[in-house]
Amino acid sequence: MYNGKKVIDVHGHLSTPVHFRAHVMNMIALRTPNENINIPEAAMKQALDRHLRVMDERDIDLQMISPRPVAMVHWERPILQEAWARTTNNVIHGQCVMHPDRFVGIAQLPQSGDLNIEACCTELERAIDKLGFVGALVNPDPGGDRQSPGMDDKAWFPLYKRAEQLAATLIVHPSITRDPRLDRIPHSYQYNNITEETLATLLLEHSDVFEKFPKLKIVICHCGGALRRLIEIGEPIDAVNPSRANDNMITASGEASGVCGVSPAMTFSSQNRRQRPPAAMSTLRLSRARAAA
Ligand SMILES: [Zn+2]
Repeated sequence: MYNGKKVIDVHGHLSTPVHFRAHVMNMIALRTPNENINIPEAAMKQALDRHLRVMDERDIDLQMISPRPVAMVHWERPILQEAWARTTNNVIHGQCVMHPDRFVGIAQLPQSGDLNIEACCTELERAIDKLGFVGALVNPDPGGDRQSPGMDDKAWFPLYKRAEQLAATLIVHPSITRDPRLDRIPHSYQYNNITEETLATLLLEHSDVFEKFPKLKIVICHCGGALRRLIEIGEPIDAVNPSRANDNMITASGEASGVCGVSPAMTFSSQNRRQRPPAAMSTLRLSRARAAA
C-alpha cells in the first residue's frame, strides 16, 4: 500500500531457479521442443520467497508477472518458441496459482522475426481464456536484427484484433538485439529497450492503429519510449491524436530506478507535463544481475 492506495506493479518479470533456463538451453541445443519442465518445488519456493520479499520491501500489493524478456529466445525457430512460450506461460500460471493475491499473469508470445502472428494469437487466447492472464509482452523486434515489420504494419493487426476481442493488454517490451555494433557493449539489451520502445511509440502515434483498434490497450515499458520524451520527433502525440495519449497508451517505468534508462522522477515530471496520472509506475527493482535477466 502507498498512501492508503493499493500498489499494482505492471512491469514485473518472473523469478525462477536455474532449472528454468537450463530447460530452454537444452531445447535449443538438442533442437527438440519439450514442454515437460521439471523444477523442484523447494527451488521454486526459494526463488519465489525472494521475489515476494522484494515486493514487500517496495510496498507492492499485486504484480503482473511476465517472462524474463532476454529468455524469450524470439530469435529462435518458431517450433522451439511455441513450445517455450507455452512452457513459460505454464510456469507463470503455476506461480499465480501459488500466490493468487500477489500475482497476475502476463504471457510470453511465440514471436519470431517474421512475427509468427497466428501462433501468437493462439497462445494469447490460451493465456487469457485458459490461464486467466490479463495480457502479453510484445517484442517489437523479435528477430533481434531490426528486420521485423514496424508496429504500425498490418502484419501486426491480427494480434491487435485478438487482443481487443480478449480485452488483453499488450505490453511493449523488447528483448535482445544482435546488432553487431553493440557487440562490445555489455547488457546491450538495455540500450535496445530504449531505442525499440521509442520507435514503437512513434510508429503507433503516427499511424492509424488506434483508429482501427480503438479499444486496444498498450503499455510501453522503460519510461514509455523515453527518447520520445527527451526530444521532439514530429508532432507531439497529443497533437496527433489525443485519444492515443489518453486512452490507448500508458507508460510504465523499468524495473524502477536501477535499470530504467531515465529516473522515475523524470517519468513523473514527464507525465505531469502531459497532465496524466502516473497510473502505471513500476516499483520493482531486483539486483542488477537479476534485473539484467
Ligand atoms: Zn522489464
